[in-house]
Order: sequence, then structure tokens, then C-alpha cells
Amino acid sequence: MSELYRELDTPTFRLAVAQFEEAAERLGLDRNLRERLKIPQRALIVSVPVRMDDGSVKVFVGYRVQHDTALGPSKGGVRFHPEVNLGEVAALAMWMTWKCALVELPYGGAKGGVRVAPERLSRAELQRLTRRYTAEILPLLGPEKDVPAPDVGTNAQVMAWMMDTYSQQVGYAVPGVVTGKPLAIGGSLGREDATGRGVADVILEAMQYLKLDLANATVAVQGFGNVGMHTARILHEIGAKVIAVSDAKEGVYNPRGLDIPTLRSRYQSNVRPLHECGVGEQISNQDLLQLDCTILVPAALSEQITEKNAGSLRCRILAEGANGPTTLGADRILEEKGVFVIPDILANSGGVIVSYFEWVQDVQKYFWKEQDIRDRLHEIITAAFRRTLEFAQAKKVSMRMAALMNGINKIVQAHLARGLYP
Ligand code: NAD
Repeated sequence: MSELYRELDTPTFRLAVAQFEEAAERLGLDRNLRERLKIPQRALIVSVPVRMDDGSVKVFVGYRVQHDTALGPSKGGVRFHPEVNLGEVAALAMWMTWKCALVELPYGGAKGGVRVAPERLSRAELQRLTRRYTAEILPLLGPEKDVPAPDVGTNAQVMAWMMDTYSQQVGYAVPGVVTGKPLAIGGSLGREDATGRGVADVILEAMQYLKLDLANATVAVQGFGNVGMHTARILHEIGAKVIAVSDAKEGVYNPRGLDIPTLRSRYQSNVRPLHECGVGEQISNQDLLQLDCTILVPAALSEQITEKNAGSLRCRILAEGANGPTTLGADRILEEKGVFVIPDILANSGGVIVSYFEWVQDVQKYFWKEQDIRDRLHEIITAAFRRTLEFAQAKKVSMRMAALMNGINKIVQAHLARGLYP
């Protein structure tokens, strides 16, 4: 086993590798490629010294990991969270490789992060942190090399600072170096809610397959950030009853259905707890996961559904907005219970699909209409869903295995065609 593997050995990385090993075994993958693909191609650790508003200097640790670049520039978000570590970032980078390949984008997989609680920083401190982190990972970045995007704890503003820092260094504006930017500097229409829209698209596909009716469907969403909030909003708009949502602290529940537009405006404008927004009663994150509902959408962090709570889930469809929310042991329990799982690399691929559109528009300097973006997102993600479902049925494997095997196989074919250098 490689030395690097030991450096990365954390629960999230172990989960990503265990999924990979199972898929690799079923694909009959060559041992050498297996060894290579379970560790990243490149991993950079940087220290990020930041002048705080009180004059002191704090040093944060940051990472950028490129898992594989056989198919093109690597793509993946940047996470600002107090528990970020190398193993987690490497796992997320690996999932990005399989995700991009599954939905047939010309990209490899990457991920980045800084171990920091961004909500504890002032806007000026956050800007200095972002710029110094970008400067430290700059040798890896570029529209043809590695293209970051938002993830947990980062947003369009953070991407604007990253784009500006990179552009200042090279001496001209390079919008295509990041995606998820504001529209004013080359962002794309439809990127903000793309992940949530994709989650809703694949849920509708699954419901059609399972012959379930949206008008009678109930939805619970863990996480009310970019992915969770837009998923809840879009499902509410098209007629589903969203009965619970939560954030890192707790959730709000209403069996008659939450008024999502009211909740959204009260939650965002006053920064008050979800259950004090006057739309329902308080519920814990654990209780939310165990609600009787048609669709459960984990849209927060990894390893939320484990062997401990999987047996108590009462949903018909589990649509993974988050990356890695379900452990392998939980997967087996859910399969026995007959829960239809739409795996993360498929369910949340709307974000990277529209990031790809943003990058294409930036590189071509020609911008598309929002309806075109929605239509093309719908076309790509529903086609990927159908391919995955067909493969799962033909090979008698779970949707997760089908998605992983498809993604991994595309990368393997690229490696075999390119050969081993030197
Ligand atoms: P975000 O920072 O906008 O929101 C995260 C949400 O999760 C917040 O509401 C936060 O309060 C909540 N949360 C944090 N810790 C929690 C906990 N322990 N329990 C319950 N809730 C908790 O992040 P996001 O961009 O919405 O990302 C959420 C997930 O979706 C992550 O797994 C991310 O990797 C994945 N994802 C994001 C995108 C994207 O485009 N932003 C694309 C694909 C996948």
C-alpha cells in the first residue's frame, strides 16, 4: 500500500476507497490501475497566514487535491469548514473524477479546502484568507489545468476573489479559472441553483420509474444551504410537499408542508433559527432523517446515514444532494429495505454540469440564455440517470454501483488509451 494512502486515511477517504474497490472488483480492474486510481495524482498542502482585523496573524491550513486529469482539466469545489482535512479533500476529489466521467464532461476531478469556520471571520478577513489561499495554490490553477467552484462554506463572492487574485497574478482577466462566479464577471445564468435543479430532475425521473405521484409526495431535506435550499424551493414550486428542512443546528417540521418562500426570506434576512421563522415546529437533525416521507435529501455533509440510523429511515427515495452522505454499511441496509438510492455522483452532478457550461461560455466569450442552460442540464442529467438505471438493471447492481462502475470505466479507458508515462 502506498505511503500516501496512509497520509489520507480518514473515514471519508476510507468510504471513497471502499466504494472504488467494490466497483473495481466488479469491473475486473487491472491491479496497477487500481493502485493508481485509489490515491490522488497530486495533493498540495499549504499554510495560509491571515492578518486578522485585530492586527494578529492566524495561520490556517489549506489543501488542493487533483485526483485524476486523464480526461481534461480537473474540476471541483473549495470547502471552508473547521473539519476539512487531507483525507476528506482527497475523497471528494475522487468522487469528482467519477462524477464528471459519469455525466460525460471533459474533466478530471479535484477538490480544495481550508480548515476554518468562515462564519467566525469578518468579510475583510474572509477576503484575505481566500486571496492568500488562492495565491498559495496558484501553480496548480488555470482554465486548462484546474478550475475550482463553490462548495460548503464558499459562494459566488469567494469565487470572485479567487478569479481576481489569479487574474492579478497573470496580468489579465481570466474568468474561466473558476466557476460559480457572479454574473458580472463571467458567471453563468442558472449556476446558483443548478445543483438543486439537477437533484429535482433526477427525483422526477426516479418517481416516474417507481410510478409515484409528485402531488402526493412528501420531502425532507437535511441542510438548507445552496443545495438543500434550492432543492426544497424547486420541489415546492413544482407541487411536492416539503415537510422538513434543517441546518447545522436543527430543523423545522410541518406535516402539512412548509411555506418555503416565507421560510427562505425570513431565514436569510434575519439570520434566525429555522424553527423561529414561524412555519413549523422544531425538529432535530436525527429525527428529520427518520421522518416518514417519500423523498429524503441529505444536502449537508458526508457520513450522515450510517449503520446506526439506516434501519430507521422511512423514505422511499434517497436523493443524495451531499457528497458521501451514506456509509457502505448503511447502503446495504437501505438496499435490503428497498429504498431507491440516487447516488451522489449522479444526484448532485447538476452543479458541475452547469459549471462546465459556465467554463465553456467563458472560454468562448459567448453567453447563453437561462432556458438553454436549464434544457441542456435536464438533457444531460436525465440521460445519465437513464443510462445508470439501465446498467443497474442489466448487471443486477445497485444504482450506486452502476454510477461508480460507469464513471470509473470511462477513466480506465482513458488511462489505457494514453498509456503509462514514461
Ligand atoms: P452550504 O455551505 O451552502 O450549505 C451547507 C448546509 O449544511 C448549511 O445549511 C449548513 O448549516 C448545513 N450543515 C452543516 N453541517 C451540518 C450538520 N452536521 N448537520 C446538518 N446540517 C449541516 O453547502 P452546499 O454547497 O449546499 O453543499 C452541501 C453538500 O452538497 C456538500 O456535501 C457539498 O459537497 C455538496 N455539493 C455541493 C454542490 C454545489 O454546487 N454547491 C455541488 C455538488 C455537491
